[in-house]
Amino acid sequence: MLGGFKKTTKRNLLKGIPWRFGPNWPGKRCEAKTRKGTPCQRPAKLPVGRCRLHGGASTGPRTEEGLKRLADSKTKHGRFTKIERAKARARAEQGRIIRRELKELETWFIDHGHLKKNWRKDWH
Ligand SMILES: [Zn+2]
Repeated sequence: MLGGFKKTTKRNLLKGIPWRFGPNWPGKRCEAKTRKGTPCQRPAKLPVGRCRLHGGASTGPRTEEGLKRLADSKTKHGRFTKIERAKARARAEQGRIIRRELKELETWFIDHGHLKKNWRKDWH
């Protein structure tokens, strides 16, 4: 009935091989409710007191150091960090200001007869 050797707890118990998480195991057990309605009873190994099947989703880094490690592992070149993007926005705004001022100067020169209206075309 047992067939070939499979390394499962149930089969080991049937064979009489002791199970380190048996009924007398003193450690903390997972108390998650199973689909059967009974507590899970697997050894709880996560900080939340649940087993690896019932631990739930990660709640993210807890410390500044942990967050930094995570960010470092996800950063390839840093060109799109908040700081770099803010710098790029500032440069773009600077360019818009300069172009706006040049446009004002151009209209002033045209209005006062220093430049022809299509002066760019005659340039070359
Ligand atoms: Zn569990």
